[in-house]
Amino acid sequence: IKKIGVMTSGGDSPGMNAAIRAVVRTCAYYEIECAGIYRGYEGMIEGDFIELNARSVKGIINKGGTFLKSARSKGFRTAEGRQEAYNQLKKANIDALVVIGGDGSFTGALVFNQEFGFPVMGIPGTIDNDIAGTSHTLGYDTALNNAVEVIDKIRDTASSHNRLFFIEVMGRDVGHIALNVGVGAGAEEILIPEEDLGLERLLESLKKSKESGKSSSIVIVAEGDKTGKNVFELKDYVNEHLPEYDVRVSVLGHMQRGGSPSCFDRVLASRMGVKAVESLLNGKSNLMVGLMNDKITVTPLEKAIKGQSKINKELIRVADIMST
Ligand code: ATP
Repeated sequence: IKKIGVMTSGGDSPGMNAAIRAVVRTCAYYEIECAGIYRGYEGMIEGDFIELNARSVKGIINKGGTFLKSARSKGFRTAEGRQEAYNQLKKANIDALVVIGGDGSFTGALVFNQEFGFPVMGIPGTIDNDIAGTSHTLGYDTALNNAVEVIDKIRDTASSHNRLFFIEVMGRDVGHIALNVGVGAGAEEILIPEEDLGLERLLESLKKSKESGKSSSIVIVAEGDKTGKNVFELKDYVNEHLPEYDVRVSVLGHMQRGGSPSCFDRVLASRMGVKAVESLLNGKSNLMVGLMNDKITVTPLEKAIKGQSKINKELIRVADIMST
């Protein structure tokens, strides 16, 4: 392998820049070339590449987002699109790929490898932490810190006015952000997709919490929670059943995945970048680098895509006890 292409694909996450930097610098360390591919698979099809050396990635370890930009590509889902992408990579003498993204991006990488035998390595970059084979995806830790910081501020208002806040955090299919942020910000209730506590139980808990002398309450709701109601409908529901509560709603949205990556994410990105390049240089392919028990590991991409990242049951119990 003489030249590695690196790209970011799917939703952006803080730490992606730090991972690109790590890939580029590791290539420089081993004296091989590195090219950045703009806008994920979309830029690959168009041959939108940039030569990167150790100095091209200065001053970006602390920047959120991804300077290579990210995109979702319809073209790469077609055989013609992937053929064109392959032609462009060959033309630029790129002979291996590091894909920083989520499970969709890894699926694309696997299909590409099966069709052309092109060596690929994945780095999990998504704030949702919904990928098996790693305890932490890149950007997850930053997203947790972003969310907790804002919820602390919302609590000031909640307690000054004796209000109940429903706060929606990201997590379409998994409740990792909601559960951790809920425990970290001291929420009274946490609604996650993995556990449907039911609306009755929510009302019960809110009633109890009022009786126990709590003057304000915070309920964290994952986007994909299973109550069947979004935060605004939850507010109406509680208004109807517990009129004594003054209810407000806050949807945190994209601020969760913006801003400077945490130190944890920067270190993780650096370790993952080194491992991804070294794996390619050792003849490996179709693997995702991950973090397991503070060790950098590799997992077959197939497993990473198909496996479910399990919710931490012990943490659910802690959350329960903490809301007493
Ligand atoms: P996030 O977790 O943030 O959504 P992701 O990597 O899962 O990130 P997707 O939009 O699912 O994001 O996938 C990114 C891109 O990967 C798609 O736009 C598409 O180009 C490519 N891709 C996904 N699935 C396939 C597939 N089955 N075949 C070919 N390409 C695919």
